[in-house]
Amino acid sequence: MHTAALKTVDWRSDTVTQPTPGMRQAMFSAPLGDDVFADDPSVNALQDQMAALLGFEAALFVPTGTQSNLCAILAHCQRGDEYIVGQMAHCYRWEGGGAAVFGSVQPQPLNHQADGTLALADIEAAIKPDDAHFARTRLLTLENTLGGKLLPFDYVQQATALAQSRGLARHLDGARLFNAATAQAALTGTDARVEARRIAQCFDSVSVCLSKGLGAPVGSVLCGSREFVSRAHRVRKMAGGGMRQAGVLAAAGSYALTHQVDRLAQDHALARQLAQGLSGIAGLVVEAPQTNIVFVDLVGPAKERAPELMAFLAARGILTTGLYRLRFVAHLDVDAAGVDVTLAALREFFQA
Ligand SMILES: *Cc1c(COP(=O)(O)O)cnc(C)c1O
Repeated sequence: MHTAALKTVDWRSDTVTQPTPGMRQAMFSAPLGDDVFADDPSVNALQDQMAALLGFEAALFVPTGTQSNLCAILAHCQRGDEYIVGQMAHCYRWEGGGAAVFGSVQPQPLNHQADGTLALADIEAAIKPDDAHFARTRLLTLENTLGGKLLPFDYVQQATALAQSRGLARHLDGARLFNAATAQAALTGTDARVEARRIAQCFDSVSVCLSKGLGAPVGSVLCGSREFVSRAHRVRKMAGGGMRQAGVLAAAGSYALTHQVDRLAQDHALARQLAQGLSGIAGLVVEAPQTNIVFVDLVGPAKERAPELMAFLAARGILTTGLYRLRFVAHLDVDAAGVDVTLAALREFFQA
């Protein structure tokens, strides 16, 4: 989104990224087939690449993360089953109730702890005994990152081990798995791919968005066992998600996996830079970012000026979401100059 007069700094989401020149070239030259006949080589290559990377037997390319989670929940659960899920989880709160609408699968939402986790005791207490009064508790879903927070790896191990010991399947909404893995790799001193695989291997199925920080225009990949993926494939068909020369999109995803994972660390650095600058401005309470998302609360007199602030920023081409709680998301189409422009605008507004 560029105009001659105004360069937009678009913090609204990491979904707004444009394909890079290298990615466009990969899309342009992708070999294509018909994926409903399972003979699109670029789709097959992406599915194989993601499955191998995360350590699963199989994978399925899907148009959106929402459809990916729907396919996963309906592949794990039958009508009258329930899934345990966080109140703020995408696959509970932000997907139009799809699992209930299309699958008659009942969510059992739990409140999050401050660090984004679901307390083990709450998970334990939510698992219903085998009794005709209750829905059958069938699945635990976690999200990592959640609101930009990295779930501690020992927690992920404990929660998924608990679920497994009680006979539940385990699904990870890893829309931003590679952001989680990048943050975890910074803690352990390893590589984002190694950490992505370690996290993924705690689960029976994992959904990853290509269209967020990885920078592809469209798509998610759902991984699991061969048998799970064949059930998910049937749901994808019912949901109208069978695409034909989809390799033109899958090629962008493969390019992202090969070339745009390592750069996520730059987004995290940019988010830290922004947060640091914002925390010096009176009236703003900044949550220190763990990955690429910065939340900023407006407090005191600053809160009353929130609508005025949004208009002020928009007039300068600085786009965010929220009102009293602003969300800034770093991604490949914002840079250090964008951070400077944003900080300068906020300092000017608050005369800080
Ligand atoms: C973005 C996102 C999704 C899927 O979004 P789509 O817009 O349907 O691709 C799923 N889960 C989480 C956590 C997300 O952030």
